[in-house]
Amino acid sequence: MKKCTQCGSKDIIIERKHSGQRLCQKCFIKGINKKVLKDMRKNKLLNKGDKVMVALSGGKDSVMLLDILYTFYERNIIDLCAMTIDEGIADYRKDGVDIAKRHAERLGIEHKVVKFKDCFNFTLDDIMSIDSERGACTYCGVFRRWIINREARNMNATKIATGHNLNDETQAVLMNYLEGNIENLTRIGPKTEARNEKFTVKIKPLREIPEKEIALYVLSKELEVHLAECPYSSSSFRGEIKEFMNQLSNKHPTIMYSLLKGFDKMKPSIKKDFTNEFTKSKECVECGEPGSHGLCRACVFKKEIYNNIQK
Ligand code: SF4
Ligand code: ZN
Repeated sequence: MKKCTQCGSKDIIIERKHSGQRLCQKCFIKGINKKVLKDMRKNKLLNKGDKVMVALSGGKDSVMLLDILYTFYERNIIDLCAMTIDEGIADYRKDGVDIAKRHAERLGIEHKVVKFKDCFNFTLDDIMSIDSERGACTYCGVFRRWIINREARNMNATKIATGHNLNDETQAVLMNYLEGNIENLTRIGPKTEARNEKFTVKIKPLREIPEKEIALYVLSKELEVHLAECPYSSSSFRGEIKEFMNQLSNKHPTIMYSLLKGFDKMKPSIKKDFTNEFTKSKECVECGEPGSHGLCRACVFKKEIYNNIQK
């Protein structure tokens, strides 16, 4: 009979194909916490006294992230707050927002919900209902980053923590490589340094944890999460990459780990070669947020959308 490789228990909940490790629930939760703490230490993600703002969607990744960061908050190592973005996606976003609110309330931490509609006067559904050549995720990503950055300053956060997992990171590496987007590649990593004083440092404590293990973690700890998939997710290029990576991982269980490890080794060279071209960051002439051209991407998109709405 198979037993937990840590404690010998017969109640196995996971068998890791890449390492041969088998774990019971208790050892799995303990091991995941240990791994995340080790990664955070290795990448120097937190400083004592940091105020960390969790980008909390209510999905499994951000809920697990909040659960782990809360242990630091409990021990007075960091201050913790959370922010949830409501993009305005009918029959989808509301449940996630409600779950996020309940977690923040349960833990007694400061929490803010910010709507696309209040910031830009349109929702993501409004954008997608007008003629537009870009995919929903492109608009969503740009506007979300704009809001997250602004709100981190409003909440006096010193770090922004996002729930990106191993699958997300490897998809991002592959996607940007295939698109030839070197500028974006230079920004992928456990910690995004502030290129401008208006930027807040972003950290990804879960970037070495596979999506399946995050699902198992929230299930094991009985944490309430929003399970529905965004209606726009499957139509994106990222959706295609995700499917491709999942197929590859089924046959080659270590592929995501090796891809990320290889990329992290290559990154300093890519960064060195492209630093001068991409690190200049100015302020947007329209909204004052950081951007590398006259107008930031959010303001460029906003102008296009307003023009299309008026047509
Ligand atoms: Fe936004 Fe795309 Fe994510 Fe949906 S799948 S929430 S549109 S980034
Ligand atoms: Zn702007």
